Amino acid sequence: MKPTAREILLIKTGELALKGLNRGTFEAILMKNLRYRLKPLGSCTLRKAQSAIYVEPESPAFDMDEACDRVSKVFGISAYSRACVVEKEIGTIMEAAAAYLANDLAAAKTFKVEAKRSDKAFPLQSPAICERTGEYLLERFPHLTVDVHQPELLVMVEIRDFGAYIHARQLPGAGGMPVGSAGRAGLLISGGIDSPVAGYMMAKRGVELRCIHFVSPPYTSERAEMKVVSLLEQVAAYAGHMELIVVPFTKIQEEIQRACPEDLFTIIMRRFMMRIATKIGKAEECGALITGESVGQVASQTIPALACTDAAAGLPVFRPLIGMDKEEIIAISRRIDTFDISIQPYEDCCTVFTPRHPRTRPKLEKVLEAEAALDTDMLIAHAIQNVRRRSI
Ligand code: ATP
Ligand code: MG
Repeated sequence: MKPTAREILLIKTGELALKGLNRGTFEAILMKNLRYRLKPLGSCTLRKAQSAIYVEPESPAFDMDEACDRVSKVFGISAYSRACVVEKEIGTIMEAAAAYLANDLAAAKTFKVEAKRSDKAFPLQSPAICERTGEYLLERFPHLTVDVHQPELLVMVEIRDFGAYIHARQLPGAGGMPVGSAGRAGLLISGGIDSPVAGYMMAKRGVELRCIHFVSPPYTSERAEMKVVSLLEQVAAYAGHMELIVVPFTKIQEEIQRACPEDLFTIIMRRFMMRIATKIGKAEECGALITGESVGQVASQTIPALACTDAAAGLPVFRPLIGMDKEEIIAISRRIDTFDISIQPYEDCCTVFTPRHPRTRPKLEKVLEAEAALDTDMLIAHAIQNVRRRSI
């Protein structure tokens, strides 16, 4: 059916319902997120009722297919469906069900009608609504049979305050919690496969992302930074609006290279990233940092190396991919459309200054000794003074 002003989206909230007293706050955040994501499509009304949200387009130009795609990526939604809205009159309801669901009814072999009557003023009770509608549909689609236990097609008729809603196919939502309901964290984002997935996973738990990316011009190019922007645009389809803070890292890397043993280079660099991200994170009201690290993936991701990295962080570090295989991470990155961007060739500041034999079991005392050769505070202050901001 073509998008019309009489078609709406019916959204079911998921885990939200479990949150008891906080439920109102969670729903308010979800409504705000939905409004923000649907705004570019034109005006629509969002209405809340029981554990559902109704999106009603206000103009026929509102693109329902695009709206569905957007809604399917908003966290905090367990399921959604397109529904048609008609007057609360049984004849109209039956006709609309046959017309609106014609394709589905033609394709199915068995069906069942289920009715919900929240407007108790409606003259027919739910069993009667089901019976009348079921009979009407059987007449018009004689190939169908009723199966009350496992129907191929479940036709829903809801009698609500604002009208009667008819819908059939419920689609799975993105799950999770509304972004912003679990505070904010600083995502250390590279151009690789892992960190965009890590950001997506924390956003799914309701965490708002503030992104931090380290660049080392002229060793890293503008193109590499634009790749990070493209990745974040994909993540933003789920995580909503984000700010990206770009931190110049060249001077720090050159200093480490000049003054520290080569085998500790990566670990010291990662500790600088943590210190700077902590400072930026605190200034941006982040309660934690997020990285795409996974145990054993590279030399800097062994348990002793991660312990040295953690020791430099002044905020909890969340690593949602820590126990995942690369294949599992890739499967998610394909699903969220970041994979094809991530695999484009690029230079990252981590790949530019890679030691030949990085230490896989660094000792914190040795790392601290090596760092004593650097003016850490000055280097960090200099980097932070020169950050740039981008809006995603
Ligand atoms: P990714 O695929 O996310 O790049 P990786 O397996 O290549 O991860 P590393 O390059 O060691 O691993 O980086 C580990 C983590 O450090 C990344 O997941 C990311 O969170 C962070 N990181 C790496 N490079 C940068 C960068 N240039 N700016 C910000 N964070 C970075
Ligand atoms: Mg990387």
